[in-house]
Amino acid sequence: MGSIGVFGGTFNPVHNGHKSLLVGAMQAVGFDKVIVLPDKIPPHKQAEDLVSGEDRLNMCKLAFGDMNGIEVSDWELRQSGKSYSVITLRHFHEVYPDDKLYFIMGSDMLLSFHKWYCYEEILTLASIVCISRENDTTVQELQSYADGLKQKGAEVIIVSQDPFEISSTQLREKLKKREDCSCYLDKNVVQYIETNKLYSEG
Ligand code: ATP
Repeated sequence: MGSIGVFGGTFNPVHNGHKSLLVGAMQAVGFDKVIVLPDKIPPHKQAEDLVSGEDRLNMCKLAFGDMNGIEVSDWELRQSGKSYSVITLRHFHEVYPDDKLYFIMGSDMLLSFHKWYCYEEILTLASIVCISRENDTTVQELQSYADGLKQKGAEVIIVSQDPFEISSTQLREKLKKREDCSCYLDKNVVQYIETNKLYSEG
């Protein structure tokens, strides 16, 4: 049985917080492969400021392209309708029936997990791997939330590492103001944003 990580997000744009989460999860679990999936019209977000799926996919390929064992997939972008994690996980469960799936997420996602569409089914399809994304959310808080999910039969792995505090929202704001974001973004992503004039006010 192999282990496959599934990491979805809007990646608008992809940043070093995403990378730090992924590296931490990979070190903790030792996946055979991780599938990174930019989502299509995320159910929990407004579509304002959202650059095209193609741009978000390209930026993910640039950010993660040099990491071993990462596959950036356009599967969610090719689906009709909104992205729901349960549908994605059903799909990969069918594609990899003999492997174990791990659903990778930041702490903000875990703490609202009970509101997700078909979250109980998600817990049957994959183990959860979560990393705190801000200093305000402690590993203990996450563990106690995870305990509730474990009572439903879930496997939840909380990875303890120093948070890398940044969000795509903050970066879009900074980019609009033409602030230097090179410490938060892969250099090839910075180049892509500049070349394609993304997130600027024109
Ligand atoms: P936005 O600010 O537009 O809401 P975001 O920065 O939260 O975007 P997403 O693409 O929505 O990024 O996040 C995808 C996944 O990455 C989620 O599971 C989220 O919790 C996680 N994540 C995002 N930023 C970080 C971070 N700095 N540290 C750890 N995990 C993160």
